[in-house]
Amino acid sequence: MPIEPGFFRIPADPNAPPRLLGSRCRSCQEVFYPRRRICARCLTRDTEDLELSTRGSLYTYTYVHFPLFNSRRADHGGYGVGQVDLPEGPRVQAVLSGGPGDFRVGMEMVIELETLRENEAGQDVVVYRFRPAKATQATSAASAKVEPS
Ligand SMILES: [Zn+2]
Repeated sequence: MPIEPGFFRIPADPNAPPRLLGSRCRSCQEVFYPRRRICARCLTRDTEDLELSTRGSLYTYTYVHFPLFNSRRADHGGYGVGQVDLPEGPRVQAVLSGGPGDFRVGMEMVIELETLRENEAGQDVVVYRFRPAKATQATSAASAKVEPS
């Protein structure tokens, strides 16, 4: 189950990516994430629900060298955070899946689910995150550090 309702939908197909739940203004066509009842651009109260694309372009990112709060991945020692531009327009901030050398501005990212923990009912509590759509060849080169002589 989602950590908080209303932000994304988990498809019935376990191999399918989650879908972010956005809104589109019927008047000016601006798209928002998360959902809005009133358009922030033209203030019309006429928005419709829209499921956003599962892929986008990495606008910017950083790598936090500290374990992710509340995560099972505490042993990883850090995590990426980035902003992903979706084709519909919204720029979504999310945790990134991968190591510090795995990201490049402008690369294609795909959304996926991460299980944070189990709740009292034994259900997995999940969040969404983005990972690079393709493994980069540059990763191995970037991790092969050149020591100063
Ligand atoms: Zn509008």
